[in-house]
Amino acid sequence: MMTVDEILDQPELSRADMIRLLSISDDHEQKALIRKAYSVKTKTVGQKVYLRGLIEFSNLCRKNCFYCGIRNDNHKINRYSLSEDEIYRITAYAIQQRFTGIVLQSGEQNSPAFTKQLASLIAHIKKMANPPLRITLSVGEQSYETYQEWFNAGAERYLLRIETANESLYHKIHPDNAVHSFQNRLQCLENLQKIGFQTGTGVMIGLPFQTINDLADDLLFFKNRNMDMIGMGPYLVHSDTPFARFSASLLPSGERFRLSLRMIALLRIIMPDINIVATTALQTIDPTGRESGLLAGANVLMPNLTPITYRDNYLLYDNKPGSKEEELSDEFDSKLQQIGEKIEYNNYGDSIHFTKRNSHDCISCDNN
Ligand code: SAM
Ligand code: SF4
Repeated sequence: MMTVDEILDQPELSRADMIRLLSISDDHEQKALIRKAYSVKTKTVGQKVYLRGLIEFSNLCRKNCFYCGIRNDNHKINRYSLSEDEIYRITAYAIQQRFTGIVLQSGEQNSPAFTKQLASLIAHIKKMANPPLRITLSVGEQSYETYQEWFNAGAERYLLRIETANESLYHKIHPDNAVHSFQNRLQCLENLQKIGFQTGTGVMIGLPFQTINDLADDLLFFKNRNMDMIGMGPYLVHSDTPFARFSASLLPSGERFRLSLRMIALLRIIMPDINIVATTALQTIDPTGRESGLLAGANVLMPNLTPITYRDNYLLYDNKPGSKEEELSDEFDSKLQQIGEKIEYNNYGDSIHFTKRNSHDCISCDNN
């Protein structure tokens, strides 16, 4: 049997290699995988970190994903939508903090009023800074026309996690009805790419019923679908969701954390030029989780800029950090310097993969 170092020395990793690497339980092997991923990261995207300010602007959601704390049927939370002025004030703060981009995230809403209001917000925010901020949206499944309208208004990036690339697992983690359709989620990702968004997706790691083979297939899905950005992190329990009943059957949280780092590391190795987010979910399990994510190959952080008073109503899972304190760039600067990483201000940090994909000069795209 090949050693982990021998597997990692191969020019290409097979699905079987990925399954073997995701199954690592030995500490030395885990370190070898992470070392390799960090050396790939250093050579491709560099020891640089891009900050995007996250604004969770509404927790209204029409869906009922079994794992999510802001699902429609959770009546224990207060529903809110930030006013335009509140969003502009937070955006001004992001500009003052020298962020070059923001992420507008919410539950899934699809009324014509929502579409129109978001388009006008995007257009206004584009005029607030010079050079303009890059705007990422993360507001779920929408029609082609809606995506196009927001793109035309000035949004450049979109995050829509597939959650799992295994269709039958997808159906186990969502209600069985038309608003929770795997095929529609796939179609949305295709539409976003067609329109010209830098397109991001991702999965949760350690879900009930999920296997290591599923996770290997998720990585292959990202590669085959030519994704530009990935955000993935451990699945975490929210006690007021239907999936809370599976808490006892999950991998222990420490193992879910290490598995998440192996997923990030492998992804960096197979897709060297994409952007990878070190997620807040990592930090929930370990206070230095996001730093560990960066050392495993991630290169993007999304500090939460949602006003503190709203954060308790945007708890996707229990113990989500940051409901008490603000996150400031200066603090990030010193934390990251300690691990040899540097925040890139004055740089949009667009996905290199996206840029190459569009200039038809992509080293890891199969379908150019
Ligand atoms: N509503 C939009 C959507 O679903 O695409 C965007 C907001 S949604 C809250 C953003 C992401 O949160 C989801 O894609 C999901 O992966 C993640 N999430 C929700 N519940 C979670 C949980 N219990 N543990 C970890 N991540 C979770
Ligand atoms: Fe709504 Fe997104 Fe949560 Fe699903 S994951 S319930 S769509 S906010």
